[in-house]
Amino acid sequence: YDDRDGVIWMDGALVPWREAKVHVLTHALHYASSVFEGERAYGGQIFKSREHSQRLLDSAKAMDIPSRWTVDDIEQAKATAMAANGLKDCYVRPIMWRGSGEDMGVAALLNPVHLAVAVWEWGAYYGDAKTQGAKLDISKWKRPSPETIPCHAKAAGLYMICTMSKHAAQAKGCSDALMFDYRGYVAEATGANIFFTKDGKVHTPTPDCFLNGLTRQTVIDLLKQKDVEVIERHIMPDELESFEQCWLTGTAAEVTPVGKIGDYSFDVGPMAVGIANEYERLVRGNR
Ligand code: PMP
Repeated sequence: YDDRDGVIWMDGALVPWREAKVHVLTHALHYASSVFEGERAYGGQIFKSREHSQRLLDSAKAMDIPSRWTVDDIEQAKATAMAANGLKDCYVRPIMWRGSGEDMGVAALLNPVHLAVAVWEWGAYYGDAKTQGAKLDISKWKRPSPETIPCHAKAAGLYMICTMSKHAAQAKGCSDALMFDYRGYVAEATGANIFFTKDGKVHTPTPDCFLNGLTRQTVIDLLKQKDVEVIERHIMPDELESFEQCWLTGTAAEVTPVGKIGDYSFDVGPMAVGIANEYERLVRGNR
């Protein structure tokens, strides 16, 4: 991704894409002192833009990374990056991290904090799965407890188990992995939240140790507007068998129906497809 045309917003400057670099002794590279966002713009408008900017600042705060940028500054940076690259329909990746400082230890209170915003075109996150239903592996890695990590931060360090889970899933021909949590409950995929249906009702895990995605919240609102009952609760793996439909939600994934999780099969049915279409209409603003 580094060898291409375009510009990246870095600490207030627009830097040619190939030159948007950090030093190898960057604290974030060694100790994961980095937080980021994933957003999508549709027709020039980033969906829930301010909520994403606020979440970036909340993640930074949870990680002891002081931001000299406000929500308004981040909004401006994102708009500048999109305009400079001439993109209206794109993925937006703000990232804030600790740079290199006086020493190379774990503590980083004196290390400078940086912000960058990159934007690029990114199609369907799960490719064909969007229409055919994604196939998920079940990860051996568990989402850790809130006492172990700041589980609601979108922090780089939390993605190491996601990457390992996704690699294992892809090696088995799956699009993604479903992770259980430290207690054994169904949690989420490596970059998306999960929903199930049973007898006309929707069930989704309580986000008490993983990201309560903005797409997840949007989909719950859409379902409630349609008088569909949404039950947020702890879901045991042995319940997977009893669910009829399943889908994933995330900014990159949007709403993607799931056809299989391990040996369990789900229908790419009217609820999953309906909510995917509804979300599409909402983000494109032509409801
Ligand atoms: N969980 C994880 C681990 C994620 O990376 C994402 C994507 N940001 C989500 C859930 C979904 O969050 P959102 O809907 O806010 O994109």
